[in-house]
Amino acid sequence: TGVQTCALPIWREGMALEFKAGWNEREVPWNCKLQNRLTIGILIIFVLVFGVSSFLMIDYEKQLVQKQRVAIANQLGDVLSNTLSAEMMKGDEKEMWDDIEALTDKMRAASGAERIQILSREGEVLAGTDFSLESYEYSKEEDAECAACHLHGAKDFPSIVISTEGEKTVLRTITPIKKERRCNECHEDEETNFLGMISIDFDYTPIERENNEKKMRFFLLVTVIAVVMFAAIYWMLSKEVLHPIKILMEASRHLARGHYDTQLDVSGEDELSRLGETFNHVANEIKKANDVLAVESENNYQSAITDGLTGFRNKVFGHETLMELILESHKCEEPLSVLMVDLDFFKKVNDTYGHLAGDMVLRETATRIKQLLHYSDTPVRYGGEEFLIILANTDEAGLNTVGERLRAKIADSKFIIDDDGAEIEVTASLGGTVCLTNDGKSEDMIERADNALYQAKGGGRNQLVIL
Ligand code: GH3
Ligand code: MG
Ligand code: MG
Repeated sequence: TGVQTCALPIWREGMALEFKAGWNEREVPWNCKLQNRLTIGILIIFVLVFGVSSFLMIDYEKQLVQKQRVAIANQLGDVLSNTLSAEMMKGDEKEMWDDIEALTDKMRAASGAERIQILSREGEVLAGTDFSLESYEYSKEEDAECAACHLHGAKDFPSIVISTEGEKTVLRTITPIKKERRCNECHEDEETNFLGMISIDFDYTPIERENNEKKMRFFLLVTVIAVVMFAAIYWMLSKEVLHPIKILMEASRHLARGHYDTQLDVSGEDELSRLGETFNHVANEIKKANDVLAVESENNYQSAITDGLTGFRNKVFGHETLMELILESHKCEEPLSVLMVDLDFFKKVNDTYGHLAGDMVLRETATRIKQLLHYSDTPVRYGGEEFLIILANTDEAGLNTVGERLRAKIADSKFIIDDDGAEIEVTASLGGTVCLTNDGKSEDMIERADNALYQAKGGGRNQLVIL
């Protein structure tokens, strides 16, 4: 027949399906990621609390050891003071110092002290376990441990000073030899409350070493626990909080991209699961609203382009379609035709049988046109009793065939005009034209078809003219 097929898009997406404009999906910077923030925050708090408390504990232990040494020193000091004054009362100074030296030796062995010395108020070594220091005079300026003690403003006894002698760390306690009432017999003129000092040195090296080892062990323990806790917190946060949040974020984005059937698989009972349920509900509501909107939009669009009486497309749509086809046929390189159909003396039908009868004739004409056309052709109700038929991929021969067949289909059998089955004869005049290379717009073709139709009318009606 010369009629070829070609798909014609008539369904257009409604506006309701598009609201993505202005939407900007931003990535979360690493330093704002909840997982990183929470983990680092908890880790810092843990290290601070655990680290500070363990160092305080070690320091407390150190103080305790020092207190023990001072207590021993006080006891030794008391015994020595008493022995000294008792020996002095005897009056034999030579015997006194011999006895005192023997006593200090015994005390040193019993207490675990390194060195015990009896000093004068001025710092001269009077007796002690270390003979090499006999008569040595300690001075604030020359002896580091004296300077350390005096520098720190130690006014009260017992004083403690920790100093290093080569590899060794020494804890030195200084306790006073108090001036008692019986001493006044010999020392009455001296205006002081102490007569000398007892210096006791303890080897502090093992304590210090133990302390350092403890610190190291604590540090290692804190590190190991911190790493384990970090992993545990990270894992827990990931599983319980951040993974669900990520899924919620992804689902929201999916929804925002226009996938209104997005639903989450919610199984838990926690707050995030509730949030997931709310998300599902909101997505559902959006989907329902969007479905209604899409249907309404489609209905509105359909009724805007459709003629109510015949169900054909209307004039506006006809012009748009013809324009698109002219462009698609590459300015008429490929065949394209139109046919203008006008019922003859239709006014008389209305006048004689009434408008309802006229409407029935129009509907029946539309039915006969549809029966004849291929699906790629577009029938349009162009005016009152005028139809425009767009024949895609149809050349002049095809146009002639379709036009002649349509003319015969209308003229050859009568039209029923009421429910009682009354019939009348109806004819139509047809004007056709094919697309020409200088046709730029739909009006160019329609004007020629109109002229052809005018000639058909003038030529006696019930005939096809092609221009
Ligand atoms: P011609 O052969 O020269 O085409 O004569 P005609 O009477 O068909 O032409 P005319 O333009 O004089 O009359 C067209 C008539 O079509 C006028 C109008 O009342 C009628 N008409 C237009 N639309 C409708 C409609 O929807 N229903 C009915 N019943 N009549 C319609
Ligand atoms: Mg007319
Ligand atoms: Mg007419």
